[in-house]
Amino acid sequence: MTLPTTATAIAAAVRAGEVSAREVVDAHLAAIEAGDASINAFNLVLADEARAAAAAVDAKVAAGEDPGPLAGVPVALKDNLCTRGVPTTCSSRILDGWRPPYDATVVERLAGAGAVAVGKTNLDEFAMGSSTENSAFGPTRNPRDPERVPGGSSGGSAAAVAAGFAPVSLGSDTGGSIRQPAALCGVIGVKPTYGLVSRYGLVAFASSLDQIGPFSTTVADSALLLEAVAGHDPLDSTSIDAPAPSLVDVLDRGVDGLRVGLVSELMGEGIAPDVAGRVRQAADALAAAGAEIGEVSVPAASYGLSAYYLIAPAEASSNLARYDGVRYGLRVDAPTTAEMNAATRTAGFGAEVKRRIMLGTYALSAGYYDAYYGKALKVRTLIVRDFEAAYERFDLLLSPTSPTTAFRFGEKVDDPLAMYLNDVCTIPTNLAGHPAMSVPFGAGADGMPVGVQLLAPALGEATMFRAAAALEAAAPPLEEAWS
Ligand code: GLN
Repeated sequence: MTLPTTATAIAAAVRAGEVSAREVVDAHLAAIEAGDASINAFNLVLADEARAAAAAVDAKVAAGEDPGPLAGVPVALKDNLCTRGVPTTCSSRILDGWRPPYDATVVERLAGAGAVAVGKTNLDEFAMGSSTENSAFGPTRNPRDPERVPGGSSGGSAAAVAAGFAPVSLGSDTGGSIRQPAALCGVIGVKPTYGLVSRYGLVAFASSLDQIGPFSTTVADSALLLEAVAGHDPLDSTSIDAPAPSLVDVLDRGVDGLRVGLVSELMGEGIAPDVAGRVRQAADALAAAGAEIGEVSVPAASYGLSAYYLIAPAEASSNLARYDGVRYGLRVDAPTTAEMNAATRTAGFGAEVKRRIMLGTYALSAGYYDAYYGKALKVRTLIVRDFEAAYERFDLLLSPTSPTTAFRFGEKVDDPLAMYLNDVCTIPTNLAGHPAMSVPFGAGADGMPVGVQLLAPALGEATMFRAAAALEAAAPPLEEAWS
């Protein structure tokens, strides 16, 4: 029999004993072996560990035990998620040789649910970037066109799913790093409500913004994966102490009567016409399915980008102070401790990480704190208020995920501002702590995938997933370019 390809179908077949976890994993390892030399989605492939984990799932099935809701499902993990005894690099030289002594909570929960980790995926160093070109291990290529970037920073996790190396993967999203690469690679990507998924064992970039979430080819698979990893964790003090929403069960409820607002600030200047066109088409599809569509203004969203590029670097400059040549990975020896610290950081960090540390240190320094960091926090409050007002009138909001389709290598990497502008649509939700997801909706004028973004109020995942399922059902074929 041909093997099932979605996580939902794989888990059902493995649980029923129709296929073995071992053959599913072998097929995916073979696909990685055949294809990843040209894509570079993985920093590390865990072939032996994956085969052993699959064998353990098969043994449970044979013994009549419950192998879990993700039985035998291969999953790829962004390489900023800690895996016990297994190198975790954040695609940075500075973590050379470091092996975490513990698993991230999400890694533990996936294993407990019967999923099989097949490898660690490439990213922009410490998740700073939008193209995966900032990796110390070379860029990941977009499986839909190897001349183009997969987006970032979770480019490896998006590409792994788009290339069929794994049906699902996990990434992290601080300012768009799940949703933007999902859009550029033509897959689903979800940033959950801040606090819904434990950050324990996620290497910190900007702790007040970071969230872990799934990638998949179907809405149902993201629902399944998110259900498995979500929920309270005492090891993360920001984890929400409430039951996680049920998602898989609500997908077929439709959107009849849902009020969906098109965010006007994210539909105008800077958004490519073909992308805006697809978003309007998505709004029409939701209307045809029974939703009420309106326009809504979220005025402070226009300042989101500026606020984010102060807040995120400020937090990063503090979080990355721990890489000092003593506690983790790389050490470049020098006569004094201070010189050793400096030499290690000079050699270990790439250009973008250094830029962020400098931006953040500057924004936090005495004399500039109020003007930069303090002001950015005020903007953050305004964004929260504007969203609250918008959600009084609408159940969900709709926008592009990324202003353009996938760009070519080198196009923006030397122009930080052009790169940062990529995040204009995704950043406001991180600042508010709300959930959002990207759903593929046809192709742009260049034939590359377009993602539309659904935004919801805190813990509004169930409604968001219902609308995502409706968009998935109505999505135009990727083969037809926008004209
Ligand atoms: N592209 C954004 C940045 O460079 C977002 C990164 C992320 O979400 N991790 O900061």
